[in-house]
Amino acid sequence: MPDFAPPVERLIDELKHLPGIGQKTAQRLAFYLLRAAPEDALALADAIRDAKEKIRACSICSNITDSDPCFFCVGPTRSKKTICVVEEAHNIMAIEKTRTYTGMYHVLGGSLSPLSGRGPEQLHIKSLIERAWKSYSSRRPSMAFNMVTSSAYSKPPPFIFPNF
Ligand SMILES: [Zn+2]
Repeated sequence: MPDFAPPVERLIDELKHLPGIGQKTAQRLAFYLLRAAPEDALALADAIRDAKEKIRACSICSNITDSDPCFFCVGPTRSKKTICVVEEAHNIMAIEKTRTYTGMYHVLGGSLSPLSGRGPEQLHIKSLIERAWKSYSSRRPSMAFNMVTSSAYSKPPPFIFPNF
């Protein structure tokens, strides 16, 4: 016999899929949502649905966007001479907050993690190389990837390749 009614069990199970959310936190969040005003709880559900339906990966840099290509790839003031390679799309915002970088970005979509079965094939490395060669075909791109596992190096700095 389940501890809670099946819809509540389902909500708890779905919340447990979120990173850093265990059984107790999932239960706490589920009961918070059940106590919330219906419009507040459903606004969260609508926001998740809206984001999942409208957000996709930029066909050039793999940043998350609601328009393809993304804002950074078509920005008229962005320098195309530099590509900043970041692990995840949210890393771009941290760099943008510095207001010092005006180049392009490339989102790898994670880090190398052989223990998790994530190798170069699972990351957007091939598209980065193709993009670099396409944009800078007259020059030899110089690239350096930090080939450590995510468990050994959890927050890699962005790598910037100026003037290939
Ligand atoms: Zn883009």
